Amino acid sequence: MKRRDFLKTSAAIAAGAAVVSCGIKSGSESGKAPLPYTPSGNAKMKLSWQPYELQLAHTFTVATYSRTTTPDVQVQIDFDGFTGYGEASMPQYLGHTVESVCAFLGKVNLEQFSDPFALEDIMEYVNGLSEGDSPAKAAIDIALHDLYGKVLGQPLWRIWGLNPSKTPNTTFTIGIDTPEVMKAKTLEAADRFKILKVKVGRPDDKEMIGAVRSVSNLPLAVDANQGWADRQQALDEIFWLKDQGVVMVEQPMSKDRLDDIAWISERSPLPIFADESVQGLEDVKKVKGAFTGINIKLMKCGGLLEARKMLTYARAEGLKTMLGCMTETSCAVTAAAQLSPGVDFADLDGNLLITNDRFEGMQVVEGKITLTNRPGLGLKLI
Ligand code: MG
Repeated sequence: MKRRDFLKTSAAIAAGAAVVSCGIKSGSESGKAPLPYTPSGNAKMKLSWQPYELQLAHTFTVATYSRTTTPDVQVQIDFDGFTGYGEASMPQYLGHTVESVCAFLGKVNLEQFSDPFALEDIMEYVNGLSEGDSPAKAAIDIALHDLYGKVLGQPLWRIWGLNPSKTPNTTFTIGIDTPEVMKAKTLEAADRFKILKVKVGRPDDKEMIGAVRSVSNLPLAVDANQGWADRQQALDEIFWLKDQGVVMVEQPMSKDRLDDIAWISERSPLPIFADESVQGLEDVKKVKGAFTGINIKLMKCGGLLEARKMLTYARAEGLKTMLGCMTETSCAVTAAAQLSPGVDFADLDGNLLITNDRFEGMQVVEGKITLTNRPGLGLKLI
């Protein structure tokens, strides 16, 4: 190209660029988008917490124990006029207590961080403070995510690019009881839910399933909670369960018996999901050949940041995915629900099993998880 032609071309490109730049206004000029957020002055994150005992609507019985309350700690992080809510729920089998959660939270100094968006750095620091304490870590992670969404003015599902119409139906657990009570509970739940869950792994499994089946044809999920001891008997029962309209099985045998579970998964007509065998991402790597899918729970894995990594890894490895919860308020349940578009199963009914919820969050509408359009987790204090 001659120098004169080059100059002509350059001038034409510059003119074109000028037209484009005149045609597109920046967000602040158009008045539609907020200015980039800048914290005011020396804004610091302030972490606070309070123990909060959850009252169960019904005595909760699984293969290994029964209970009527669940210990819980409610957490909040205040920053620059915004408040993020989090929660640590502590079912007995994980071995955490209100005291251990509060002791951990007392060690956390969030004031050293001036940017609440630095989730990776903040959670790396929090996770490095101890080996375990996953519920306490989850509480901080959830509160940080709520805060982050509120500062941005958008719900987390939208920030993550998820489609809220792709949320699954949640299972609703019919607690183990006498057959008559289980029938009554099933009839009550059958109007509101599209899939029910029954705890098995006990000698009277067939009676319990029979009670539910006698009053409802809804698909069933079952959770053995490590309760089956013999793999051949477990497999025989799984074939029987399939004939009863069961669609998935959780944790058939003890969490460490991966060889036996792999044997079952290879032969099972139903997908076999890991629950007690999996806490965080490292465990998913260990169990991926033994199970068909994994049940991700925020209280086990330490929060949404880790849960998102587990989901990504599981999908890449061809594992089915499920989101579960403990008995929790709508805070932690709604946090898990943000991730639910696209998962294979969801068991997010923990807030429906208590009588003293502090929040209104995600709703179950005709059995389906329904997310709100409010920022962060989208919670309202009741
Ligand atoms: Mg389970």
